[in-house]
Amino acid sequence: MDIILMGAPGAGKGTQAERLQKELHCTHISTGDVLRKEMASGSELGKEISAVINRGDLISDEMMLSILKKVVAGAKGDIIFDGFPRTVQQAQMLDNMLAETGRKPGKVIHISLPEEVVIARLSARKQCKLPSGETKQIGPDFSLADCQAQGGEIFTRKDDTPESISHRLSVYHKQTAPVVEFYRNAGRFVEVNGDQTPDEVFADLLKILKA
Ligand code: AMP
Repeated sequence: MDIILMGAPGAGKGTQAERLQKELHCTHISTGDVLRKEMASGSELGKEISAVINRGDLISDEMMLSILKKVVAGAKGDIIFDGFPRTVQQAQMLDNMLAETGRKPGKVIHISLPEEVVIARLSARKQCKLPSGETKQIGPDFSLADCQAQGGEIFTRKDDTPESISHRLSVYHKQTAPVVEFYRNAGRFVEVNGDQTPDEVFADLLKILKA
């Protein structure tokens, strides 16, 4: 069954989704990663969305869905959605898309944590660009030393500047927080405390998913 991982930017969705992908042998789809790859490709679409993403706004629901449909079509096994849905309309579109393609909707897990922790995490966040072009987030599963050892370049995401962080959080409250309520009422919703070590959060996620 497909899993949805929700949470504010910096909640640890990407780190946990990567771990879950390895443990459960499913496909991790991060819409942020999909969009950043599109931007890096230099395509017309990439150029069109880069200003929106860099200032911390959401790209339109229609555009997001049409990009996502192609990625879902190529996915193997169950999917972990990370960063999608981010609006109530996207949640409704996802329900329809899963029904149309015969996929089974599973648990919706919200990784929650206090806003001051979110801000501190995003402000300290660093990425590593590997010589292959692949980008990895520096964190518990990929350290600064790993990045340097592999000849990577350390950088800060353009949307992790103080202005963009504060804008992304206001977008989150306005557009994404209502999605939490949408799922809370649908009976597939579980909350996990994100203000713990990555190992503790992962253990909680596995308990929920293997129950
Ligand atoms: P993330 O890596 O999940 O923090 O996403 C980075 C940026 O990509 C977001 O701030 C948005 O600009 C864009 N983005 C990612 N997912 C979505 C989505 N589901 N809908 C609209 N925009 C998105």
